[in-house]
Parts: sequence; C-alpha cells; structure tokens
Amino acid sequence: MGTILMKKTALVNGRIITPLRLIEDGTIIIKDNTIIDFGSKDQVTISEDTVVIDVNQAYISPGFIDLHIHGSWGGDVMSASEDDLVKMANGLVRCGVTSFMPTTLSGSLAELRKIASCVEKMGKVNGGARLIGLHLEGPYLNPKQVGAQNPKYIICPDPADYLPLFDKYSCIKRVSAAPEISGGMALGRELKKRGIIASIAHSSAVYQEVLAALENGYTHATHIFSGMSSVQRVEAYRVTGVLESVLLLDDLTTEIIADGHHLPPSLIKLVLKSKGLNRVCLVTDAMSAAGLGPGEYNLGGLEVIVEDAVPEIFEIETQKNNYVAKLSDRSAFASSVATMNQMVRNMVKLVGLNLPEAVCLATINPARMQKLDDKIGLIGKGMKADLTVFNEEFDILLTMVDGEIVYIK
Ligand SMILES: [Zn+2]
Repeated sequence: MGTILMKKTALVNGRIITPLRLIEDGTIIIKDNTIIDFGSKDQVTISEDTVVIDVNQAYISPGFIDLHIHGSWGGDVMSASEDDLVKMANGLVRCGVTSFMPTTLSGSLAELRKIASCVEKMGKVNGGARLIGLHLEGPYLNPKQVGAQNPKYIICPDPADYLPLFDKYSCIKRVSAAPEISGGMALGRELKKRGIIASIAHSSAVYQEVLAALENGYTHATHIFSGMSSVQRVEAYRVTGVLESVLLLDDLTTEIIADGHHLPPSLIKLVLKSKGLNRVCLVTDAMSAAGLGPGEYNLGGLEVIVEDAVPEIFEIETQKNNYVAKLSDRSAFASSVATMNQMVRNMVKLVGLNLPEAVCLATINPARMQKLDDKIGLIGKGMKADLTVFNEEFDILLTMVDGEIVYIK
C-alpha cells in the first residue's frame, strides 16, 4: 500500500439545500477540493477510507458569496493592507461566506492601484474565505448620487487612467459606475470586452440612458434603491429613473442589502416581484465593524454607533443581531454591518421566502451574475467543495472552503 491516500470526507445526516432543491437526510462526499457525490442517504455509498462528519440534521448549503463588501471583522479594504484582507477572509467564514469580492470606495487612482496590487497577490486565504477578485465601486460616479462616497475623488472615466489599471491588475472583476457621465458608455464597452462585470451605480440616469447602458455592456445595478435616481417630474412630464428601469428591465440583475434596516420587507418584496427570484442577489455592502457586535466605533474619523434598534414607523420590530451602523446622531446610516447568514435569515423570517429560495440569493445567483457558476454557488458533482452548515436559527456551525474545514463552532 502506498502511504499517500486521497483525502475523502463525508458530511452525513444533513438537510442539503443544493439550492435548487432540498434533500432530507443527505450525504455529501468530498475528495480533495471537489464534491464527488451527494444525495439522500441510500443513494450515496461511503467508502471505508472516508472521514465521516455527522452534522446532526443541520442544513448544508453552498458557501455564501458576497460580491460587494468594503470591510468586516476589523478589516478595511481601503487600508490597502493584506492583513486587513486576511482579517476579512478569516472572519467571513464564521458567517458562512466562502467567496467574496473586496470592494473599494472612491479614492485616488494611486490608492486604488495600491489596493489592487494587494488583491492581485492573494487568492484563497489560508483558513479563510476565497477572494474572487476586486470590485471597484467608484470613482466613476455621478456627483449627484454620491451617497456615503467622498466627492473629492469622484471623476469621469478616462481611458488614459483605466486602461493601464485593467491591463496591470487582472484581479479587477467588477466596476460599479454611472453610465450617463462623460465616458461612462465607453467604459461599459471596455469592461464588457475584458469580461469585467459593469454595474450601474450612484447614477442619475433616465430610462433612455439606462437602455443605452445595456447596449454598452452594463448588466447589473448596484444596491437597488441606494444611490440611484427615481421617477421625477420635469415640466409636467414624468421621467423614469434608474430605480424603475431596474425594476422593469429583465436584462438587468440587481442586489439588495437585506440587513433589516436599509429596506423594509415590502420594498424587498417589490424587487423580487419585479425581478423574479433569479435576477437578485444579497450583498452586505458591509464596513469594518461588521461581525464585531454593537458599540461605538471610530471609522476613518467618523463617530458611529452600531445597534439593532429600528424606529417605530419601520415595518418590522427590532431583530436580535440585525445590527446597523449609524452616524452618532442617528441621522444617517454609515454603510452596513450586515452578515450574510443574518441576511439569509431575514429573507426567510421577514420576507417570507422558503429556505432554498433564500439560499439561491446568496449562492447560485451571485455566482451566475459574476460568471463563476461553473465552479461555485451550487452543490453538484465536480463543483468546488465550498460548503456551509447552519441550524434553524441560521447560526453557522461549520464552513468548508476548497474541501478544507475552515470554521467549526
Ligand atoms: Zn458599497
């Protein structure tokens, strides 16, 4: 007998959410970094050389994918440090996330280059979640929809700036930009040519400009309802904004921050009713205090308070662990401190989706939108063994990345 045996692991006694279906009493067999078999107990044979892990009737789903996250667990993408990205990767597996796209805010091109060179060097973080590329949110935004972005850095896209950036850093996989600003359509075409996802963001476009954006390579809309124009009246005529265009046009996918604060359940239901369950994904859009719990923080000189309280007028009551960051006078949100497992929970408990539907929004849908669906986002033979195990309360019990257990509660 040779001494080198292929490592095989079986997760047994689980309720598997593939997420296209739910398999009760399920088994998943993992060899090295790949799922080699799965199904109900009697359909799957476990060979003798397999390490068996009983998950005790917990749910097993593909690992969650976050396409839009600025920080968490004390790590901040804008610090341009590998240490901070490692903090994020290691913390996120505690929330069931196995793949994420670190996301920048508007900054100087020199800052963005520094961040890109950090991400370029990193793939899977040992013992943590996988980085699936860099998402640039800005600096090519409409100053009228600046939101929490620093107006000082907002510029129009110029090929002399972005061509060398895209040439040098192949880790850039998504750009959120306003298509209607000068150079925005040419940027969309360049992104499409390179296979980088172009997403409409912080935009004041009108309907005709959104259609033009689609014709010029844009396929997605960043955090629906936030940083986008809506219907307005001009000389007695109603003019359709980005919001209504995104709800209407099937060719655009979008994303929601379902943290129990940014959008009430009724607006999330409106998005799902308009877009269908296949064209929406969950994103946290989180900043560095996500995962750290309630308290007062100083974030880049800004005093913020992290709490779970919602005002009386909001549709839902305060939910345990649904934290939000607000400016210390509570006048505005300061980004989000959402975690992906809480958002999947919210889609079930607050919005009323069934479990496989809610899991789709955090797994197969973002994988498709980012064109990663041949590798991750689905439990299937030959797919990467990125899995997460959770209980009825959506507490994460175990997370596996590339067949390796990276978190166990
Ligand atoms: Zn963002």
